Amino acid sequence: MPRTTKRNKTSAKLKTNHRKLPRNPPPFSRGISAKLGSGQKTANRALTAFEETRGRKRRIHAENVVRAANDLLKILEVCRDQIDWGKLEIAKTEEEAVSGFERVPSPYRERLNLWRAAIPEWAREGKFPKTNLDRKMRHLADSVAAEGFLTPRRSRDVCLEERKRQAQLGMILRREFYIECSCGYQGPAKGGGCRQCGTNRVSPEIQSENPLLR
Ligand SMILES: [Zn+2]
Repeated sequence: MPRTTKRNKTSAKLKTNHRKLPRNPPPFSRGISAKLGSGQKTANRALTAFEETRGRKRRIHAENVVRAANDLLKILEVCRDQIDWGKLEIAKTEEEAVSGFERVPSPYRERLNLWRAAIPEWAREGKFPKTNLDRKMRHLADSVAAEGFLTPRRSRDVCLEERKRQAQLGMILRREFYIECSCGYQGPAKGGGCRQCGTNRVSPEIQSENPLLR
């Protein structure tokens, strides 16, 4: 079935019918698609992408934008000396953006190239810190994290707001699982081991279930 037909059919249904219909998962763009978050409710906080005039509007989640910005920043920091910042700052096309990463080794270069579409917009905006490289890297990462579906300015604002929101949320600092030990202890583990006898050894049966627990 051709894509357009399917899409039209779906949107027609959604307009006229409020019964619960099976829906396709929302389309996530490459780069910020890796993980869909930690199971928190996100649907009502989705941001509608700017400049999408055709087809179904892409929805962008602030958590994913921040995650993408943080991931990108890590790569930029690793590759900071191989990146040709002068080229990036004047890039007008994707090709020119890519040329700024020519000296970056694989696989970082490929990872950075994923952002080539949004970089010219960042360069055109021209608001990046001119001298402080640390601030420039953060600025670039936050500006392009929505991959051009938000303006650089809006993308930075989304990152700022979302980081504020996340800082206000509580977080688990330690996590233990329930264990039953051969010494008779049953209950939460301590550092992955037994609270009573201290062992960290795992039975062969569990080892064969999950080799990562070894
Ligand atoms: Zn024990």
